[in-house]
Amino acid sequence: MSDLQMVWFRSDLRTLDNRALSAAAERGPVIAVFLTSIPQWQRHDHGANKIDFWLRGVAALREHLSGLNIPLLQRRIETYDEAPDALLKLAHQHGATALHFNREYPLNERRRDAAVERAFHDAGIAVTGHTDAVAYAPGELLTGKGEPYSVFTPFAKAWHRQLEGHRLALTHAPAPQTRLAIEADPAPSRELPDACDTPLDASRWPAGQEEAGDRLERFLRFRGRHYRRQRDFPALPGTSELSPYLALGMLSHRQCLQAVMSDNDGHLADGDAGLTAWANELIWREFYLHIAASFPDISRHRPFQPHTRDLAWRDDDAGFRAWCEGRTGYPLVDAAMRQLVQCGWMHNRLRMVTAMFLSKHLLIDWRRGEAFFMRHLVDGDFASNNGGWQWAASTGTDAAPYFRIFNPTTQAERFDPEGRFIAHWLPELAPLAVKSRFFPSEAQRRDTGYTLPIVDHKAARQRALDAFKSLSS
Ligand code: FAD
Repeated sequence: MSDLQMVWFRSDLRTLDNRALSAAAERGPVIAVFLTSIPQWQRHDHGANKIDFWLRGVAALREHLSGLNIPLLQRRIETYDEAPDALLKLAHQHGATALHFNREYPLNERRRDAAVERAFHDAGIAVTGHTDAVAYAPGELLTGKGEPYSVFTPFAKAWHRQLEGHRLALTHAPAPQTRLAIEADPAPSRELPDACDTPLDASRWPAGQEEAGDRLERFLRFRGRHYRRQRDFPALPGTSELSPYLALGMLSHRQCLQAVMSDNDGHLADGDAGLTAWANELIWREFYLHIAASFPDISRHRPFQPHTRDLAWRDDDAGFRAWCEGRTGYPLVDAAMRQLVQCGWMHNRLRMVTAMFLSKHLLIDWRRGEAFFMRHLVDGDFASNNGGWQWAASTGTDAAPYFRIFNPTTQAERFDPEGRFIAHWLPELAPLAVKSRFFPSEAQRRDTGYTLPIVDHKAARQRALDAFKSLSS
C-alpha cells in the first residue's frame, strides 16, 4: 500500500486535536499502534489505578479509531528496549513508509524514542516526533542567557509574550479513511498482572476523549469563573479534576486553552480572573514538562538543587507507614491521605500539605512520598509529581523556601473552615465541634479512637529548619 503511515500512541489517547495523527492522516492511510508495557510502567512506579485507566483509555481510543477505519494494533512488551523491534516488525509486516508519534519528555521515554528513531532511520523508514503536549518544544523558550527557565513566573511571562496563534491551533480531526485490508487486533483482555493491586472502581474515572470533553465543558460552564476563589478548598468541587485526562492525553492542553479563550473574549492572560487562573495552571504543567526535558538529572531521582543532596533525611519506617495510612494524628493530613488511597486522586492544596508534612515534619526523603503518590494517583505524571514534591521539599525549581513550613492545623482552619472535608474522610471526628476537628484534644482522641499526633508541630518544624540550615548552599 502506498504511503501507509503508522501512528504510535502512548499517552496521547485521543483522535481529536492529536498532532501526530493529523499529520499522518494528511500524508496517507493510517494504521495505529499501542505497545502495552506494564512491567516497564510498574518500574516507573505507575500503580494499578493509572495502569487500569490507561488500558481503558486505549479501549476507548480503539473505538474512536475504528469509527475512522483506522485499525489499532496492540503488542505487549516487557521493557522499552523492545520498542524499536516491535515497531519495526509491524512497519515491515504492513509496508508502512513512515512512523509518527507525539514527543514525551522524561528521560526514559526520550531514550526509548531516540532508539526508535535510530532504528527507523537505519531501516530507511521516515520517522517524525511531533510537539503536541506543550505549546513550545523544550529549548524553544529560553532566558536572555539562552538557558532553560528554572523559575515559573518568568517562564509564564515568556510563554504569553511569544505566543503565536499556531501554537494553540487545534488540528483537524481526520476524516474516516477508506477501509484497509488490515484488521485491528482483537481487544486484548484488560486483566492486570498479579503484581498489580486491584484498581479502584472504574466508574469514578470513566476513560476516553468524550468523557474528557464533557468534563471540560461542565467545568467551564459551572465552575471556571469561580476557580480562583474556590480552588483551594478541598470540600468544594472547585477544580476541574481533569488531571487524569490530561496526563494520558485523552484531552489536549490546546482544547482546554481554546475553550478558555472562547469563554473569555479570546484572552488567556486578561479578563475573567477564574478562567485566567485556571489557564495559568496549564502553564505550570508545561513548565514542569520543560524542566523534565531540560534537566535530565531529575529523572535520575536527583534533587534539582544540588546542595540539598546532602540533606540528612531520617529513616523512619513507622512514620512513613503512618503517613501512608492516614494515621499521623493531624486530621487534614490523614483525611487527604485517605482521599488519595480511596480515590486515586488528591486535591492540589492537600498534595502540598501532605508532601510538606512528610518531607519537613517527618523529615523523610521526598522520593519515598513521590513514589507512593505515583503508585496511587490515577493522574500520576512524572514531571508534575516530581515538580510538586521537590517544591514541597524545598529541593526543586521555584521551591518553597525551606523555612516556610505549612502548619497542618492552620491549613485546615483556612482551607476547610467548616471541617467538612475532615469529617467526610475521618468520620470518627464528625461528631466533634468544627473547631475541634482541626486538632482534637487528647480526651477527644481517646473518646473518638482517633490517633495521637506522631510528632509535635513546633519541635518537628525546628528539626527540619536545623537540617536545612546545616546544608552548605
Ligand atoms: P485544576 O486545578 O483544575 O488544574 C487544571 C490542570 O492544570 C490540571 O488538571 C493539571 O493538568 C494542571 N495543573 C494544575 N496544578 C498544577 C501544578 N501545580 N503543577 C502542574 N500542573 C498542574 N499533577 C498531575 O497531573 N499529576 C501528578 O502526578 C501530580 N502530582 C503532584 C504532586 C504534588 C506533591 C503536588 C504539590 C502537585 C502535584 N500535581 C500533579 C499538580 C496538581 O496537584 C494536580 O495537577 C491537580 O491537583 C489536579 O487537579 P485538577 O485537574 O482538578 O486541577
